[in-house]
Amino acid sequence: MNHDAEVFAGTFRDSPLAMAVLDADGRLRDANPALSTLLGRPLGFLVGTALGALAHPDDRDQHRQIVAHVSRGTDERIQAQVRCLHASGDTLWTRMTVARLGDATGSLITYVEDLTEVRRARELVEHHSNYDLLTGLANRTLLLDRLSVALQRSAASTACIFLDLDHFKIINDSLGHEAGDLLLVEIATRLQAAVRPGDIVARLGGDEFVVVLEDMDEESATSTMRALVAAVREPVMIATHEVVPTVSAGVSVGTPRTTAETLVRDADIAMSRAKAAGRDRVEVFSEEYRDDAFVRLSIESELRVALREGQLEVHYQPVVDMDSRQPVAYEALVRWRHPQRGLLLPDSFIEVGEEANLIIPLGEFVLDEACHFIASRPSFSGKVLVNVSTRQIGVPDLTGTVTRALARHGVAPSRLALEITESGMLVATQAALTDLRGIADLGVELLLDDFGTGYSALSSVLRSPVTGLKLAREFTLRLGDRSTGDRISTAVASLVDSLGMHGIIEGVETESQYRQARAQGWKLAQGFLFGRPTPAELIPGALTAPRGADAVATPSTADALGGALPAPRSAVDIDHDDALQATAW
Ligand code: C2E
Ligand code: MG
Ligand code: MG
Repeated sequence: MNHDAEVFAGTFRDSPLAMAVLDADGRLRDANPALSTLLGRPLGFLVGTALGALAHPDDRDQHRQIVAHVSRGTDERIQAQVRCLHASGDTLWTRMTVARLGDATGSLITYVEDLTEVRRARELVEHHSNYDLLTGLANRTLLLDRLSVALQRSAASTACIFLDLDHFKIINDSLGHEAGDLLLVEIATRLQAAVRPGDIVARLGGDEFVVVLEDMDEESATSTMRALVAAVREPVMIATHEVVPTVSAGVSVGTPRTTAETLVRDADIAMSRAKAAGRDRVEVFSEEYRDDAFVRLSIESELRVALREGQLEVHYQPVVDMDSRQPVAYEALVRWRHPQRGLLLPDSFIEVGEEANLIIPLGEFVLDEACHFIASRPSFSGKVLVNVSTRQIGVPDLTGTVTRALARHGVAPSRLALEITESGMLVATQAALTDLRGIADLGVELLLDDFGTGYSALSSVLRSPVTGLKLAREFTLRLGDRSTGDRISTAVASLVDSLGMHGIIEGVETESQYRQARAQGWKLAQGFLFGRPTPAELIPGALTAPRGADAVATPSTADALGGALPAPRSAVDIDHDDALQATAW
């Protein structure tokens, strides 16, 4: 073998590029180890085999033509993307080059580059630009594409359903992102199964899903809608919690003028209405809803200003002892004195505050006010109850915030109680529970608010550091029906008693409700019958120490200031002077 031939043979053998020498008919005369590896065939098998026989069945003709063209001299060299077959049967995407070797016998040489990975990556990228990674559902791009086509075909029979999971943020924040992801995948599967095979189900990110129904009359759209909502509502185990997911949904139907974007936006707006109306429901889009979306946005930006400029205030509603009907505690309830719209109640802004994360500064403000209230009323020895939103627990730590507020005003922890809603407790994570334990360890009491409205298992309540509960107003409203209302109220009152917890019945408005609640064993009550939420300055007993100097405003400084000044009579129909004598519960 001459030098050149030796060099060729060495290169051929050691090349990482798969190569073969073919005779003029395209039969392999020699192949290198790289080709053997690529195709998963021993060299002995390859030699003597026709190139076409190594091809994917669909590309066999193409292989033959390439060889024929180069062999006949029509082309000096041909490069093409063709599929080969691996010994395992897998398809290999390759770039194959066939050229004449230039010897007397008309031998050919072929180089085979493996493009399978490259191709797979490209397909993946193409897929990802149209599909959601987590759930495999269509993404916004593909949704809008297909929706546009559907609208052109028949706008009036195209319905768009916008679904948003209820309380998903709580699940995500408390059980962790992995748990949240599992839930999203589960919901995606359920939605897909609830529609016809060709219908589009898309995920827009987060917990937002869109379903597009084509060729639908109102009746079939409604029944599909029901099927979707029912599918979501099946219980699911997430980590160790059984969660019953619900969705709020909005529906919009196309008109000849709607674009895909507006149809989705209209359904989104209708969905927001469903959320605002209490979640777990469906709303159909109507033109007037559009304005509401703007209102919501403006609440958020106005609330920022309100926090900065001190437009928020705290009102106090008495919790009374059932026997004496005198206050033993006050619940702190936030109010917003809006410069244009007057006094706003929390229901109109707490939720926006939670979503915009403004609940943290808002919560700190209320805690600070509550501690000031306690510190500036040395003759009042009861507790002040402060509502905390689930979003405030464990982010980063409510214990720290509470400790600082107490210290700033020199208030004993036993004077403060925090109210957490039942649904909040349900999804409390380990981190949140640790935070709550920290608060309980300080000596601050924890109460379960609106008891009976969530679906918490009693066992999880007992495992939590909660030491009291407030029966939701809706049960009080049903007192006297000699059926469920009374039975629940009686049962909860005795439960509270036997567990040694504190129980407060909420929303007592009439003498008859008061009498029944008392007969059923309730020791503490709250409601308009005993007093409405009232500004702090209308509740007597306050010192006139300058704001912020509470830590030094002990009774002796009060004396130095000439004692508590006579306070204006309260508009509340209870005798607050007696209230000041009331003892802690
Ligand atoms: P909640 O904690 O259950 O507070 C009791 C609500 O019932 C208060 O409404 C109170 O004014 C009202 N109420 C009390 N007695 C009666 C009655 O006899 N009849 C009727 N019809 N209503 C009565 P409000 O002040 O509008 O507060 C609504 C909710 O907003 C509260 O429900 C609480 O969950 C939330 N909230 C209030 N302040 C704060 C706060 O500072 N932070 C947080 N995170 N939430 C708050
Ligand atoms: Mg409350
Ligand atoms: Mg309540």
